[in-house]
Parts: sequence; C-alpha cells; structure tokens
Amino acid sequence: MALATFAIGVAALRRQVGATQSFAITGIFDPDNLYGAVTPGESSVAPGADATIAGQLESIPKGIVVTGLVSAPWVGECRRCAIELGGLLEVAVRERFVEGATDEDEAYPLEGEILDLFDLVRDSLVLELPIAPLCREDCKGLCVTCGADRNEGECGCESPIDPRWASLETLRSPEEA
Ligand SMILES: [Zn+2]
Ligand SMILES: [Zn+2]
Repeated sequence: MALATFAIGVAALRRQVGATQSFAITGIFDPDNLYGAVTPGESSVAPGADATIAGQLESIPKGIVVTGLVSAPWVGECRRCAIELGGLLEVAVRERFVEGATDEDEAYPLEGEILDLFDLVRDSLVLELPIAPLCREDCKGLCVTCGADRNEGECGCESPIDPRWASLETLRSPEEA
C-alpha cells in the first residue's frame, strides 16, 4: 500500500532508541479542499499549494520526537481594503509521536512503523494563519459611503459625522441660530 503523502516508514529508526534521521517531505497540503477559507477573504493555505516539513526524527522509548520546520504559502485579504495578500508561513515544530497516545498525552499517536506527519503539518499551519491581516499598518480602508479605496486618494464623500460631535452641534445650534 502506498504511504500517505506526509508519512514516513520508521521501522529501522525505531530499532534503536536515540537514533536520529533527517527528513524532508513536500506534498500537496489539501488535495480535497478540506481546509480552505470558510468565509470569503479568510486566510488559508493557498489552494492547491504544496506544504513542506523538514527536520530531524529521533527515536525515543515508545515513540519519535519530530523537530523541524513546516512551511506553506498562505493567501488572504486585507481586513480594511480587501486587497489580496499572501506570503510564506514558516512554523518551527517540536512534537512527540507516541504509541497509543491520547489527547491527555500532549503527543500525536504513532501507528506501528509508519509516522504520519499530516496532522502535525495541518495543526502547525492552521494555527499560524494570519487572522485579520493588514496590507500595511496605516491602510485607510474603503470609503463606507462609495466603496472607493481610500489608499488611492480621497473620493470626496463627506466623512460620516461622529455621533459625539453631532450631539454637540445640536446643543450649540439654538444659540448660534
Ligand atoms: Zn489594506
Ligand atoms: Zn467615498
């Protein structure tokens, strides 16, 4: 049977506690589009893109420690002006895979002589996606009246009146009239 994309055979490594092995795996992160953006503009790993995990495996009693770097391109949009953004996510990882691990072990389960790193790749990337990215710190966003990109110049719309000033004007008007 063919190995899953992010799986490695570790039979030889596991024969000796303390043994180490370098590895690097690159493959399509989400071929079935299970982890794409749920709402429009939400950050996600770029559709169809490869992810890479590379580093070192170390054999420990009942398991393996994985130390390395997970990387993949991400895409999303600026939370103020909705321009498309993207970049490279890089996440340093150090996690244990242990036989019979449960949620309480703070380790990933290891099934026999196959180490499947996909859950680690997915968790690392999904947790590091930018939640509400900005194209730049001072992005002016879109005009709420006409929708123009205010980074490209003023559209000429009146600024909406701040309600605090509006109430001051009401107080002042009788005297000034
Ligand atoms: Zn922006
Ligand atoms: Zn406008």
